[in-house]
Amino acid sequence: MEMKRALVLGAGGFIGGHLVKRLKKEGYWVRGVDLKRHEYEESPADEFVIGDLRDPRVCEKVLDQPFDRVYQLAADMGGAGFIFTGDNDAAIMHNSALINLNIAELASRMGVKKIFYSSSACIYPERNQMDPEKPVCAEESAYPAAPDSEYGWEKIFSERFYLACARNCKLPVRIARFHNVFGPEGTWTGSREKAPAAICRKVAEAPDGGEIEIWGDGKQTRSFLYIDECLDGVERLMRSDFTGPVNIGSEEMVTINGLAHMAMEIAGKKLSIKHVPGPLGVRGRNSDNRLILEKLGWAPSLPLKEGLAKTYAWIADRVRDNLVYATNPYG
Ligand code: NAD
Repeated sequence: MEMKRALVLGAGGFIGGHLVKRLKKEGYWVRGVDLKRHEYEESPADEFVIGDLRDPRVCEKVLDQPFDRVYQLAADMGGAGFIFTGDNDAAIMHNSALINLNIAELASRMGVKKIFYSSSACIYPERNQMDPEKPVCAEESAYPAAPDSEYGWEKIFSERFYLACARNCKLPVRIARFHNVFGPEGTWTGSREKAPAAICRKVAEAPDGGEIEIWGDGKQTRSFLYIDECLDGVERLMRSDFTGPVNIGSEEMVTINGLAHMAMEIAGKKLSIKHVPGPLGVRGRNSDNRLILEKLGWAPSLPLKEGLAKTYAWIADRVRDNLVYATNPYG
């Protein structure tokens, strides 16, 4: 029997990197595409193409056959320090929209068997996320649309474009709205890292009894989904006949202060928190898993602390390596 073929766009990124590994284990022939190689791992993809998906010629080169599976994860993105400052708005909208316009149109023309598009919880209206105790993120609450970032507006536009291609060109698309996915082998420093990675890094770098900085008052709430469960959800969605959009996220809501204390407990350190001004996003956000339970009979369940412990261990190793290099005159 011929091997099934998968195309992973954004394979040099966090989720794409994990997805390539999983698809290889499941026996797929995999082509990965990204602007860059994966920073932390050698990709096991059968082919890894370095290319810019804003360019339609690159898209035609890599999406050159009716793949069994296409996963569109490529996006110009990062954590709050990247998407909420306003400094990157034009680039975020332009770059990600071009990628999605190219790929959805071409995938329709090439007759791919199934395509996955990663949307985001950032599409949900700001008005429903002012109360940190009771944010509303049910799928149908997305309209009338009012995301709080241009990143969210691009995602909701692209969701609609994939759905239009499904209606007009029979594109077999599956759309998930990811809620804060985290885990090892993700960006942990720079300015694109997200809250769990940033907090793990700050805790790992601080001496016991020291201090870490948290943006805002730390009372804003979020939920965080461990990478393995994110990919379990994606696989279930791809196997189903449900188009979505559907939330793939955890319902274990914590405050950012709570997340910091969890990381300190894992590290075995007592640290104080200094609250400083910074880009914040909405006051509260949590996944609502009623639809995924109803349609796929599944929802994630791994306790946040277990995923955070694995992530902390991975980041603490990197922090240790950095300190060794910084103090070794021959390093
Ligand atoms: P990531 O930034 O690690 O990966 C995205 C990859 O896309 C990067 O490696 C980047 O180089 C690549 N890329 C960007 N522009 C490109 C271009 N023009 N051509 C080719 N490649 C390009 O992000 P991630 O966390 O792995 O997220 C994957 C997808 O899931 C993204 O679409 C993101 O918006 C979405 N998402 C992620 C989260 C999360 O918490 N990680 C939450 C919601 C949605």
